[in-house]
Amino acid sequence: MAFHVETAFHVETAFHVETDHKPLVSLLSSNRRLEELPLRVQRFRLRLMQYLIEESTLLLQEVAIASDEYVDHILDSLPVQTETLAKIREQQDADETSYQLKQFCRKGWPPKHKLKGDIKKFWAVSSELSVEEGLLLRGSRLVIPTSMQAEILHKLHLGHLGITKCRERARSAVWWPGITSQLQYKIEHCSICSKQRPIPVEPLFPTVFPSRPWQTLGTDLFEWGGRSFLLVVDYYSRNPEVVSLTNTSSKEVIYKMKAIFARHGIPDEVRSDNGPQYASEIFAKFARVRLCAHNE
Ligand SMILES: [Zn+2]
Repeated sequence: MAFHVETAFHVETAFHVETDHKPLVSLLSSNRRLEELPLRVQRFRLRLMQYLIEESTLLLQEVAIASDEYVDHILDSLPVQTETLAKIREQQDADETSYQLKQFCRKGWPPKHKLKGDIKKFWAVSSELSVEEGLLLRGSRLVIPTSMQAEILHKLHLGHLGITKCRERARSAVWWPGITSQLQYKIEHCSICSKQRPIPVEPLFPTVFPSRPWQTLGTDLFEWGGRSFLLVVDYYSRNPEVVSLTNTSSKEVIYKMKAIFARHGIPDEVRSDNGPQYASEIFAKFARVRLCAHNE
């Protein structure tokens, strides 16, 4: 029996896969992000992306070999020192829950209602768990046993980088149930982090999303390599246009903008940071469109 799977990967590659392998169907047809899949399935999916398959027999053996290399590569690139990795492996085996989870990965999971205690928290991610080189992983992240969570939390918080950076750090290497809320709590109760909380900046893009392309534009001037450039961004498509300027006068800016408008049409609205070029009278005359400044 063949299942027909239409799947869109996060890189927006869509194609058809014919397979009668049931677990594979569920893993490939789900819209899960690559890093949420067990390590070997990640490699498999990356591999699949190289084939544009309508009907094809997959070279499973080849995939398995490539998978070993991929797993090694991911484990090597974890931002965790070798000693820490060894300690995590050891602590996982000493931890009743992690040890049990490793067993489930190797021998299969019991039905949900038979799970007891802390193990229940892992049910939701059971399909993402795997054991590689003796390490329990969720996707490509190390599952940290209870005994090491405080220590890892401390490491993630080093440097007081705030919640976003801490979450990024965690996402690249470690996981346990509740890690995000524990990080949040730690940072909210840290006097240094709260002092360094950034002042919210004005959003780059307007809150009302335009209904069509080239309706609302943003514009700014910038310098690069000693030269001046004009940047025009369409808020709808986020498409940027960059042209070089011979000087930064209003006249030059208008001249170059006219050329852009000649190609794409005249927008309803142009937003700028209200620099002198945009504020000048010449520009105001030129602007048949409504010019808005961010600080209005
Ligand atoms: Zn802090």
